[in-house]
Amino acid sequence: DNARRNYPAQAIVDLAALQSNMQHIVSICGGAHSGTAVMGVVKADAYGHGLIPTALAALAGGATWLGAAQPREALLLRKAGIGPDRCHVLTWMYSGLEAPFEELIDNDIDISVGSLAGIDALAKAARAVGRPARVHVKVDTGFGRNGFTPQIFDQALAKLKRYASEGALQIVAQWSHLAVADMPKVPAFVQSTEQQIASFNEFTMRMKRAGLEPQIRHLANTAATLSRPDIHFELVRPGIALYGYEPDPSMGTPQDYGLTPAMTLQAQLSTVKDLEQGHSISYGKTYATQSETSSAILPIGYADGIHRSASGFDKEGALHTTHLGGPIRIMTDDGPRVVRISGRVCMDQCVLDLHGKADALNVHEGDTVTVFGPGRGVAFNEPTAEDWAHAADTISYEIFTCLRSRIPRLYL
Ligand code: PLP
Repeated sequence: DNARRNYPAQAIVDLAALQSNMQHIVSICGGAHSGTAVMGVVKADAYGHGLIPTALAALAGGATWLGAAQPREALLLRKAGIGPDRCHVLTWMYSGLEAPFEELIDNDIDISVGSLAGIDALAKAARAVGRPARVHVKVDTGFGRNGFTPQIFDQALAKLKRYASEGALQIVAQWSHLAVADMPKVPAFVQSTEQQIASFNEFTMRMKRAGLEPQIRHLANTAATLSRPDIHFELVRPGIALYGYEPDPSMGTPQDYGLTPAMTLQAQLSTVKDLEQGHSISYGKTYATQSETSSAILPIGYADGIHRSASGFDKEGALHTTHLGGPIRIMTDDGPRVVRISGRVCMDQCVLDLHGKADALNVHEGDTVTVFGPGRGVAFNEPTAEDWAHAADTISYEIFTCLRSRIPRLYL
């Protein structure tokens, strides 16, 4: 009630859905004793769902690892009481020599290295702390982002071997990231994933030849976790599946994979009023009403993380173009109906053309509407984050992670 009084929109996170999604992922990986552990990827405030509640739900669902990109996020997990007795935590996104390595080692947090300077800095920190740092060696198998390329791997191996023999580093894992595993129906991309796997195996051979045998190898994101059991290895790293979505709509729907979207974004309508035909709406006059109608204000905008690219244009407007705006589910006397953002998304609000008179529809200021939630999509009057991704020309990941702190997260 407080959240409703103070904020005109709320993101409701279904913890039971997070937990059951993780249980489902664990079962896809052969169950708790299969030899493949699951890392719940909870970086970026758990894809906008809230770090700690999500982490606890993932652990309750059977995850035994948590992945936090930034050291700060990894430390927050430990500070919340999620100790090394409950799970391993991996961090990988730090800025060169500025990272708080000593604090990370002290808190039993596994650390990725993918640069020569990073190895030296980490070994130095481990010596200062007086215990070995647990290292995941990141290799670039074709993503072109972080990780050692084959060209510098010999130098990396020499350093890793030396520091390991001195007791400064413990080589725990070898890992990499896949670029196109979310497109399993495109032959060229399947081929490209095969090349990444071959490269990954080649890196393993080189580590073994150097006398470094990582006990754990991990490569699979959600896409590969769902579609490539042959490359689960000892650990998988699903993110988006935990939140109830598949990575790309071409792979099917969440329901196809037994996943339940965990977040529902709802808002309470602000001003509802009647408009004449031909009334233009919002900045730039990109939309005009085509008949007598009513409008309602959705009281969130791009400052809340609603993408401006989800604006709705109408060919009557000045731009003489059409673009379907982001879909919203409203309840009318005739049942649920989808209306769309009409005109440009503003900083704190969007306008919705109700395509009918509010009185006749029985739509009022203060009504709660659903921006997105679990469901079957706009065709069923159940808009999802995937529908929003389509309207904003992006991916569901960005829809969640862009939601700002003006939208409180409430937990079911
Ligand atoms: N592993 C790494 C290194 C990542 O950066 C990410 C997220 O982008 C993931 C795993 C999880 O990816 P997904 O959400 O597609 O499962």
